[in-house]
Amino acid sequence: MIEFRNVSKHYGADTTALRDISLTVAKGELVFLAGPSGAGKSTLLKMIAAMERPSAGQVIVNGQDIARIKPAAVPFLRRNLGLIFQQQRLLTDRSILANVMLPLLVTGASRAQAEQRARAALDKVGLLERADAQPLALSGGEQQRVSIARAIVNRPQVILADEPTANLDRASADKVLDALKAFHSVGVTCLISSHDEQMLDAAARVIHLKQGQLEVAA
Ligand code: ADP
Ligand code: ADP
Repeated sequence: MIEFRNVSKHYGADTTALRDISLTVAKGELVFLAGPSGAGKSTLLKMIAAMERPSAGQVIVNGQDIARIKPAAVPFLRRNLGLIFQQQRLLTDRSILANVMLPLLVTGASRAQAEQRARAALDKVGLLERADAQPLALSGGEQQRVSIARAIVNRPQVILADEPTANLDRASADKVLDALKAFHSVGVTCLISSHDEQMLDAAARVIHLKQGQLEVAA
C-alpha cells in the first residue's frame, strides 16, 4: 500500500532529511515511526501525502508515484489519507462538531449527512458529549482526539499522525493512542510518529529513524 524505494530528501544544499530509505507498509498495518527530533519523521510522513516530494527514489502510495503525481491528482490522493499534523489546528471560531463536519461538507455531503457522520466519528473518539463545545474549551488531549475524528470522518484507508502525543501527559497520550488503535483494529493502516520511546507500542512494528536513516531493516 505504501512503498519507499531508495528515497532521499534534501532541503536546499545543506540539509539531508532522509537518506536512502526503503520500506513497505502493508494494508492494515500499525507502524510507529520513532526517532529523535530532526530524524526525518515528519518529512517521511509528508511525502506519503505529497506534501513533500522525494529528491531521489520513489514513494508509491496506492500504486501512485508521488514524485510524478499531477497537482490535480493530489486532492484525490489525500481523500484516502487521514492527516493528523501539527500545522492543521482546529478552527477556534466554531464548535468541534462543525470542525469535524468540515471535511465532509468540502467533499459535497449534505449538512444532515455530515452531521450524522461527524457525530459518529466524535463518538468513536469518546467526545460525542462535547460536540457543541468550542475547541479551546477542551484539553490538549481532547483537541487531539477531535483532530483524529476530523481526519477519519471521510473513512480514509490510511491515517498519518505526526507526533499526535507531543505535549500530552501520559493518561491523555494513552487515550489518543487508543483512539488511533481503534481505527487500526477495523482495518485502517496507521503510521504514527513519536520522539518519545515510552509511547511506542511493544506489540506494534516500530521503524527507527536517526539522522535520516533507518536504524534497523524495515
Ligand atoms: P522530525 O519529524 O523527525 O523531527 P523532520 O522531518 O521535521 O524531522 O526534519 C528532518 C530534517 O529536515 C531536520 O534537520 C529539519 O531541520 C529539516 N527540515 C524539515 N523541514 C524542512 C524545511 N521545510 N526546510 C528546510 N529544512 C527542513
Ligand atoms: P456511520 O455509518 O453513521 O458513518 P459508523 O459507525 O459506520 O457510522 O462510522 C462512524 C465513523 O467512523 C464514520 O463516520 C467514519 O467517520 C469513521 N470511520 C473511518 N474509517 C472507518 C472504518 N474503516 N471503519 C469504521 N468507521 C470508520
